[in-house]
Amino acid sequence: MTRYIFITGGVASSLGKGIASAALGALLQARGYSVKLRKLDPYLNVDPGTMSPYQHGEVFVTEDGTETDLDLGHYERFTDVNSSVEDNITTGQIYNKVIERERRGDYLGGTVQIIPHVTDQIKEFILNNNKDVDFCLCEIGGTVGDIEGLPFFEAIRQLGNELPSSRTCFVHLTLVPYIAAAGEVKTKPTQHSVKELRSIGIQPDILVCRSEREINSSEINKIAIFCNVSQNSVIQAPDVDTIYTTPKVYMQNGFDNQVLASMNIKRVPKINLRKWNKVVNSINNPKSEVNIAVVGKYIGLKDAYKSLTEALTHGGIANKVKVNIHWLDSEAIKNKNDLRGLKKMNGILVPGGFGKRGVEGKILAINYARINKIPYFGICFGMQLAVIETARNQAGVKGASSSEFSKRKNSVIGLMTEWEKDQKKFTRDDESDYGGTMRLGSYPAILKSNSLVSSIYKSKNIQERHRHRYEVNINYKSNLEKFGLKFTGLSPDGLLTEAVELEGHPWFIGVQFHPELKSRPFSPHPLFASFVKASIDNKK
Ligand code: GLN
Repeated sequence: MTRYIFITGGVASSLGKGIASAALGALLQARGYSVKLRKLDPYLNVDPGTMSPYQHGEVFVTEDGTETDLDLGHYERFTDVNSSVEDNITTGQIYNKVIERERRGDYLGGTVQIIPHVTDQIKEFILNNNKDVDFCLCEIGGTVGDIEGLPFFEAIRQLGNELPSSRTCFVHLTLVPYIAAAGEVKTKPTQHSVKELRSIGIQPDILVCRSEREINSSEINKIAIFCNVSQNSVIQAPDVDTIYTTPKVYMQNGFDNQVLASMNIKRVPKINLRKWNKVVNSINNPKSEVNIAVVGKYIGLKDAYKSLTEALTHGGIANKVKVNIHWLDSEAIKNKNDLRGLKKMNGILVPGGFGKRGVEGKILAINYARINKIPYFGICFGMQLAVIETARNQAGVKGASSSEFSKRKNSVIGLMTEWEKDQKKFTRDDESDYGGTMRLGSYPAILKSNSLVSSIYKSKNIQERHRHRYEVNINYKSNLEKFGLKFTGLSPDGLLTEAVELEGHPWFIGVQFHPELKSRPFSPHPLFASFVKASIDNKK
């Protein structure tokens, strides 16, 4: 029997609703329950695949190749449960389905309305395929009061009525701001937010109150009275140094206990937080520090590289060091003089990216890493540009480029027009839609024995997640290998390049996939662990 926990937000966005949901999932797991997390996004886009990382942060890609909201990355990192196409829905998808049904005549001539047709579709999404889990946690994007969120709130309100009360729990995350001039925290915004929620028929069971200061007992009492909950149901959620301490802090403040109590679960299993304590211990007690430069385009918004920064932190956990990330704007690198910032760096990373802007700056940084033997990690675009760098500067391929940003002939990187997955053929061309037409999700790769990558993975067969349109033109393989750039990872048919590495360099690896998506705090991805280690060794 699956129970449902609905997590909504109020007062302001960016309070960490995704992390709160993920941490609650982790706590329930630590008590031996099985969990699943889902995200309901009230925007009209079909998926975040075509949304700008500046606006929306990173696009997280699941094993099955769904482009999803970055909160699903938090869910996976905290619970280690892989998400799928069933776990993220948007208003765009809901309306698509409703309109499709209407065109098919499924509604038998009835008037199609928000209630019940849209809300039914949302409920179907929430309830679908949950039999195997004890708890399904559903986070509603946005904040209460947003017009576009209303159908989602209405759908969960209905579920609250339709399911027995022991099977649902409504959690509301709010802000309790500290007003310096008054020297106290203020509960009014929370009161208003809950009032808004109650006006659409939802009485929260638990309030999670984000605050930079401690909320004292009289303020907790006030929140409880005005919001119609018990004092025990007002959970403090203070700011923390590292997100990985949230499970422990929430547990100490009674979050999971109260959630279980609200669903009338009497015999609560004991909690085991050993794995989280180890992670936090490693983060809080680093032996040293290491400086990694990330040369990218979207450095103004750190959320654009969320999984990447987390994976670097995990690499630090694996080596018990603190990883200091230095963001370098590739557009500001016009010539070699602009590379001064790289001098103090122990490692250089070029992450995934799209489009022409900033490309030449990234190539200059890669050239610097290659020549000065600084550990280099190229991810997706970062690998493609490393291939272009060697082609141009070593192998003499004049004007070597990618058809993504240059229409010249020497496309060392070219548009992929056909590929296979699970015995299905996918095709695309220049005219194809932008959404969902990339090579997406998990694909196998075969690593060459005696290569650095295979020694890092301790395996020759790997599965990693992809999100790209272009591929290395395999016809350049033998020419580039002559100059030391070895193609050490290929697709099983040998046509697609999955990994390259530079001979005679301490650590220079490019991968076509996104290893950061599979890294977890308690099981850091081997490539990130190894890259951080190589960067530490580079300090000596
Ligand atoms: N823009 C490149 C491509 O589409 C790389 C994509 C990426 O880095 N994710 O192939």
